[in-house]
Amino acid sequence: MIKVEYKHTEIAVKKKLGQNFLTDRNITRKIVTESGVKSDDNILEIGPGFGALTQEITTIAPRFTVVEKDPKLAAFIRNEYPDLTVIEGDFLTVDLKKIASAKPLRILGNIPYAITSPILFKLLENRHDLLSATLMMQHEVALRITAKPRSKDYGILAVQMQAFCDIKYLFRVGRKVFRPQPGVDSGVISMTPKVSDPVSDQEGFSRFVRCAFHQRRKTLQNNLKKSYELNLVESSVLKQRAEELSIEDFFHLFGQLKPLSASSSDMEN
Ligand code: SAH
Repeated sequence: MIKVEYKHTEIAVKKKLGQNFLTDRNITRKIVTESGVKSDDNILEIGPGFGALTQEITTIAPRFTVVEKDPKLAAFIRNEYPDLTVIEGDFLTVDLKKIASAKPLRILGNIPYAITSPILFKLLENRHDLLSATLMMQHEVALRITAKPRSKDYGILAVQMQAFCDIKYLFRVGRKVFRPQPGVDSGVISMTPKVSDPVSDQEGFSRFVRCAFHQRRKTLQNNLKKSYELNLVESSVLKQRAEELSIEDFFHLFGQLKPLSASSSDMEN
């Protein structure tokens, strides 16, 4: 069992909770600067841990909200930062709409890597209540989110995220600055929701993207034919693979398709 002690509080590190604590002030500073956070923002931090990032945010904004699942760490933060609102619980079940009722949220976090995808999809779902999110995650996942067409990393995650948000890979962080040290490097990304949604049916678009990438090596024609009516689509487009399409191409193609009757309920929406 690995233990980490900080300011007289000792915890047994819970791997399941992705507990790798940042120890480098230059990195926390950089994250906070890049996030563009302002003193009057409605800020939410995911997984403050021992407060490495929290401390840095308080230099700009004295009051904000943090969500921490580990009861011992939640108590630590409550004690160290009495001005903050500490939600002890799972970020994935937190009602973001409620917290954002006064103002859209500026989210920051060195997030638990095991739940990166669910966190990203939750943020995507709640993008209308989001000003921006600046997140540290596993380097490989950061690459997949920011990937460009015709690269091996370009897939469902990249298209879904880039379709609705402006995404930036900000910088890479080596594993050595964490305690305990993880087996992988990290990367910091920012996501800023686009001013208006490029497609109105996000659910339908998301189904379409998953279907287009269903078997990566197959053409769009083969991946899509069972679920969509394709006769309005140029055949040259359908001969391509999903990974060759830009985000704009995906929007364009989505506009030309009709779901087949099995999912006719989609058409009514
Ligand atoms: N931000 C701190 C800690 C990062 S480790 C730092 O940079 O040093 C990830 C943190 O997220 C841990 O404190 C862990 O307990 C917390 N955590 C894990 N799963 C969580 C969840 N579902 N909701 C909220 N916090 C979670």
